[in-house]
Amino acid sequence: MKIARLSEIIQQLDKESYYWQIGFYGLVAAAAAHTFFLILFLLLDIPILAGINILSVGIYLYCIFVLGIPTLKSKDDHVIGWLVYGELIGHNLLATWLLGRESGFQFYLYIPALLPFFIHSYSRRVYFLRLLLVIVLALWVESSPLFNHTRIPVDPVWLERFNWMNLLIFLLVLSALSYLYALKEQAYSRQLIKDLSRDPLTRLYNRRALDRILQESQSSSSSVGLLLLDVDHFKKINDTFGHEGGDHVLKQLAKKLNLLCPDGKIVRWGGEEFLILLPETTVESMRDRAERIRTAVESFSLLFREQVFGFTITIGGTLYDKRSENFRDALVRADEALYQGKKRGRNHSVLQ
Ligand code: GH3
Ligand code: MG
Ligand code: MG
Repeated sequence: MKIARLSEIIQQLDKESYYWQIGFYGLVAAAAAHTFFLILFLLLDIPILAGINILSVGIYLYCIFVLGIPTLKSKDDHVIGWLVYGELIGHNLLATWLLGRESGFQFYLYIPALLPFFIHSYSRRVYFLRLLLVIVLALWVESSPLFNHTRIPVDPVWLERFNWMNLLIFLLVLSALSYLYALKEQAYSRQLIKDLSRDPLTRLYNRRALDRILQESQSSSSSVGLLLLDVDHFKKINDTFGHEGGDHVLKQLAKKLNLLCPDGKIVRWGGEEFLILLPETTVESMRDRAERIRTAVESFSLLFREQVFGFTITIGGTLYDKRSENFRDALVRADEALYQGKKRGRNHSVLQ
């Protein structure tokens, strides 16, 4: 049996899935809550309840230090699931049977109803079986006369205190889990939207993002500079250095464009074509910019698999006046300019 060190666990925790991280903090919180009840029952001199709390603390510590991070395997993951489920039901059924419903220990029987939160790592059948069992048990505990009265001598004032404590802890667990779930969902959808609008190779915007970019620039400026870039003889680069070499060129070019156009939006328009949108610009400054980009790329040397090489680009540009034309027309103009540049022998920038 390998017992993990706390420092080891904390180090590993960052790398685990979000659900397992929450599950881990849940285990720690459960161990802490049972330690609290253990001390309380010792002080109140109720040895049987102190005893079952020792067992529960033991189960959670076993899950944390032996089964859990960093010795976690998928098999252990399931053992943890069943141990926690069994502990929640066993402990709280016994506590409710000993102290009666007035003590509020039955609230914890409802916690497994939150299990779908962790559904990402378990099979659905297991979840629904567990949920069904919990619902049946809860109905039974709420209705059966077995849980009507206290079987051990406890001050009624303390029964009422237990009830409030248990309700509070139960509600805190409920709130914390739903809050954490909402946080995760928000972060997830933000990331998804970001990923959807980015090209995975270069991390530049993709075509899908263009509509949003145009909408955003709608309010800020009336004319947008469009620079359409195409790598010259890219097929040859692919033929000489392989597809990976070609990808390397695209990634390095994207980095360079980001540095040269921090004020613009750069879209990977196609395979080796890029569209740069420059807000509030003039034909003159676009011409300057296009030349700056072209010459920077021309003098750029790349290293790929111990070979140094360079490449060139051709740029076609135009000013898109949002008030008087639609985007497609402006784009056709930029494309024609690009074609002119290619016709003039490539490594040119042409504006029209
Ligand atoms: P030109 O100077 O006329 O632009 O010549 P070119 O060879 O660059 O022209 P063409 O558009 O015919 O070739 C583009 C090539 O880019 C063809 C395609 O296989 C390659 N390509 C497209 N997407 C990718 C990619 O993501 N990675 C790599 N490595 N190659 C790509
Ligand atoms: Mg092309
Ligand atoms: Mg090309």
